[in-house]
Amino acid sequence: MLIVQKYGGSSVADADRIRQVAERVVNVYREGHQVVAVVSAMGDTTDELIHLVGEVTGSPPEREMDVILSTGEQVSIALLAMAIKDLGKPVISLTGAQAGIVTDKAHTKARILGVSKNRLQAELVQGNIVVVAGFQGIDEDNNITTLGRGGSDTTAVALAAALKADLCEIYTDVDGVYTTDPRVLPEARKLDAVSYDEMLELAHLGAVVLHPRSVELAMQYGIPLHVRSSFNHNPGTTVKEAGNMEKTLAVTGVAYDLNVARIGIFDVVDQPGIAYRLFKALANEKVNVDMIVQSAMRNGHNDISFTCTRDDLKKALQVVENILPELGGKGFTWDDKVAKVSIVGAGMASNPGVAAMMFEALAEEGINLEMISTSEIKVSCIIKAEEAKNAVKSLHDKFELALSR
Ligand code: ASP
Ligand code: MG
Repeated sequence: MLIVQKYGGSSVADADRIRQVAERVVNVYREGHQVVAVVSAMGDTTDELIHLVGEVTGSPPEREMDVILSTGEQVSIALLAMAIKDLGKPVISLTGAQAGIVTDKAHTKARILGVSKNRLQAELVQGNIVVVAGFQGIDEDNNITTLGRGGSDTTAVALAAALKADLCEIYTDVDGVYTTDPRVLPEARKLDAVSYDEMLELAHLGAVVLHPRSVELAMQYGIPLHVRSSFNHNPGTTVKEAGNMEKTLAVTGVAYDLNVARIGIFDVVDQPGIAYRLFKALANEKVNVDMIVQSAMRNGHNDISFTCTRDDLKKALQVVENILPELGGKGFTWDDKVAKVSIVGAGMASNPGVAAMMFEALAEEGINLEMISTSEIKVSCIIKAEEAKNAVKSLHDKFELALSR
């Protein structure tokens, strides 16, 4: 078999951990498999690099940001390759560029365009274990790019897809995907399996296990992912096609996201092209918009509100300020002390009343809903950030997610 494994920052946090990961990789190799091991930067290295940049400048060019951030993973691949070599197995480390990972030019959040896999394949054919730096690639002008925080997962899935791997394992420091973040709610329960769609929502919504792009890619190429801990040998959670699973659960998990800001614009004129101009302008500045609500029209005017990440708030406010006159808007407000809580479940579409149950649980806690949005498999509410924990707990209780079934 050809197995792609990805080890996150906590799995390679220090010298001991790196030696343990080397053992794991070598054990799989000894069983006769080909192994590609994708690694993240050690522990909090990426955060430390960002902090260091902040001490030098308040406005780092994104291209240079990628040059420095990519160094974290370069340290890990060399150390892991050395540790594997010590165990007597043939191994080579490759940076993202050397592994043929080609991305677009969107520095600090680049998307993988393709993998030129000749080098990788040649190394595997020669019998080498290949250790690849996660989170990084190269654009067509040879600039180093990074894929956005947590992007090593996406590196692993892209390699698994390109190499048609038999298995893609994502090693982390938790046992798998939980009904909600176990650090927030200890009674959260590990799920044996989730669908790609559910995982995508859980990842997008802040259950912080997998990088969203990695799940999209896995779904697109039909690659099952096994999310598991590198600290033990317990089976983790399989992320796969919903068709393989029973769809009896209306709600699979509760997600929350604190990296949210809300902007509301009052009294824009009610005519075709207004929303287009606003969101086009935001897109031009690469602001990722999430929820959008337009209120009922009155006297030829509408209110439009939307959410984006807190990181994008500054850019978004600038755009709104510039375009306000063009929209005929009378003003705007914003709030970055909000959170998004969501219930997610592939069975929701066939279970009426799920949204009402959610609103009931939140109402019982006296939590005000500032925005609501729904899809086939989720309902999300924007609430005050300080109420996020309480909201997660009440929803987890309401839908009895702690009970195993
Ligand atoms: N080291 C990068 C980060 O911390 C990428 C990753 O861990 O996947 O975001
Ligand atoms: Mg990391």
